[in-house]
Amino acid sequence: MSDPEILLVGLVCVDIINVCQQFPEEDTDTRVLHQEWKRGGNAANNATVLSLLGMSCEFLGTIANSHEKRKLPSIKLEDFEKIDLDKNNYKWIHFEARRGQTNAVAIQQMLEKIANHNQQTDARKRIRTSVELEKAVPEFSILFNLTDYIFVSKDYSKYQGFNSMEEAVIGFQQKCCPGSAIICTWGAEGAMCRDGNGTTHKSPAIPPEKLVDTLGAGDTFTAAAIYSLVMGRGLEEAVDFGCRLAGLKCGIIGFDELKNFTQ
Ligand code: ADP
Repeated sequence: MSDPEILLVGLVCVDIINVCQQFPEEDTDTRVLHQEWKRGGNAANNATVLSLLGMSCEFLGTIANSHEKRKLPSIKLEDFEKIDLDKNNYKWIHFEARRGQTNAVAIQQMLEKIANHNQQTDARKRIRTSVELEKAVPEFSILFNLTDYIFVSKDYSKYQGFNSMEEAVIGFQQKCCPGSAIICTWGAEGAMCRDGNGTTHKSPAIPPEKLVDTLGAGDTFTAAAIYSLVMGRGLEEAVDFGCRLAGLKCGIIGFDELKNFTQ
């Protein structure tokens, strides 16, 4: 396989999935029809989908040596510094921002390190960066003006006071560095992007014939958008492809069948 082109920094974990007849009501007992333990974590899922699309990528995160270990520490600057950015041929490094000030500061430091690397390298070897802000927490605000692409969720947008994806892409872009793009997903309504020139584009969700499993739809969207951008396509096309692949994912269990997807 060729040198990995994309590095995904973030979480790998075990998702314990309980399948029920219907979504349980609060404070009621619900019979579980089926339980599965699956690999999860946003960055790990991004890597899975990118690999299924045929993209060579790597994952950087803390891996437990037992099922029971929880609360794993996230990657710090000194872990990231073990990677020689000159020797690797990464075209893109994506960060999943996790809860906690320590993680946000570590991502800030890693992004600064990449920015320094980019300043000292010729344009062809420049590494593009993105950050995903999904959780509704305050500490992510320091990450806005350091990266080329920012993926924001509906949850985070609402937490920041935006009531629609239109409001969110405009509002967040004012916090970003000039030229960077905002991409906002809004569940079954689709997604929207705004490029560095202020051009916005909305892409509707593409629902499957039968909704089967939405766990990881957002991670599929992010992976598909990064895939398109690394392949040299434009931002609007990347968001359209994100919605198309995420919609397909909602119609299948897990991710494996995305391998059969032909573009
Ligand atoms: P997350 O899975 O992180 O909560 P979202 O719910 O915002 O992320 O979904 C990400 C993308 O997945 C959306 O922009 C949309 O394209 C697609 N998607 C989500 N839910 C559906 C759905 N019910 N039908 C079709 N596409 C969906």
